[in-house]
Amino acid sequence: MHILIINMNNFIQQMKPTFGKEEADACYNYMNSSSYITEYKQTRLLEKIICDYINCKYCFMVNNGTISLSLALIAIDVKPGDEIIVPNLTMIATPNSVKFIGAKPILVDVDENTLNIDIDQVEKYITDKTKAIMHVSLNARCNDIIKLKNICEKHKLYLIEDAAQSIGSFYKNKHIGTFGDIGSFSFSTPKLISCGQGGCIVTNNDVLADKIRMVKDFGRMKSGTENFITFGINSKITDLQAVIGIEQMKKLPTRVKRKKEMWNLYYNNLKDIVKMIKPNDDGFIPWFIDIYTNKRDELFDYLKSKNIGTRKVYKPINDEIIYKNMYNGYYPISKKYSYTGLWLPSHIELVNDEIEYICNCIKEFFNQ
Ligand SMILES: *Cc1c(COP(=O)(O)O)cnc(C)c1O
Repeated sequence: MHILIINMNNFIQQMKPTFGKEEADACYNYMNSSSYITEYKQTRLLEKIICDYINCKYCFMVNNGTISLSLALIAIDVKPGDEIIVPNLTMIATPNSVKFIGAKPILVDVDENTLNIDIDQVEKYITDKTKAIMHVSLNARCNDIIKLKNICEKHKLYLIEDAAQSIGSFYKNKHIGTFGDIGSFSFSTPKLISCGQGGCIVTNNDVLADKIRMVKDFGRMKSGTENFITFGINSKITDLQAVIGIEQMKKLPTRVKRKKEMWNLYYNNLKDIVKMIKPNDDGFIPWFIDIYTNKRDELFDYLKSKNIGTRKVYKPINDEIIYKNMYNGYYPISKKYSYTGLWLPSHIELVNDEIEYICNCIKEFFNQ
């Protein structure tokens, strides 16, 4: 019999960033070689590395993956009162980025196969105030975004991708985040690669790229000059974070591979016990290992008592207090998956023995 060599006194975290000697050395070397700290050559290098990895023409690092969405909206000239269509099941940052600039997030339910915005329902929410659709590749899954893009083209709307959770994931061999007019990524602490904080905006569109470059730098027309021709704010990152990001990007391919192994191990152990959503494309792999069960809250408590950290899936946006009174739509799928969803430990340092321990605890729970 396989003996578990886990020290059960160690709490297994649901998620944590993983930085090593490489990042530490990079920071040390950077501090010994340059005094800028603010974004400069290392940030440009990281942007180039991201462009090459995702196969995109432009990448702009910014201070986080929320402001990146607001900046994307400013770049496409969204004005107060405009409407932006977003999914009802996403991180709060998605609708907040819309609200932040005075526009209105319009919530649409998600589809059951990917938990992405339900493309078949989108058109009935389009009005003459609609300016863009924000697609969220939730948990790095992606639905038929090409169909969504066609809908956007038909109605002359921009497609913005909140791909915050999707670095390393491809749909039909194209990196998620590069289908829309503008894509956005986050490098905050729980994401697959991290700079502590940070995000980026990507595009293949020359005109939008010029606009984004300005809006993340006070609206400055050209770096080093004092001409402001458009509205902008300071959303720059630092080179100190960029050197960390460069080391993290080197680790990305290994992490993607390990994530797939982790998913398969969890999936093979748990697929007959709880609901799991199998990826519909080999190119992506859930960022968090997500399971769905009507006993979600009890399982959360049980696993905690076994020293296992989990996290409940986001509430539907229309159930969050700040959005509650804005909507009276019907969102059955967001509701169902939100209130039954649990994210299991998913950080990259988890070892197979720990995953097996977690799966055994879950089996034990359902056998009680
Ligand atoms: C993490 C996340 C964000 C926000 O990114 P930050 O860098 O934390 O501001 C936005 N949208 C989604 C879907 C996310 O997961």
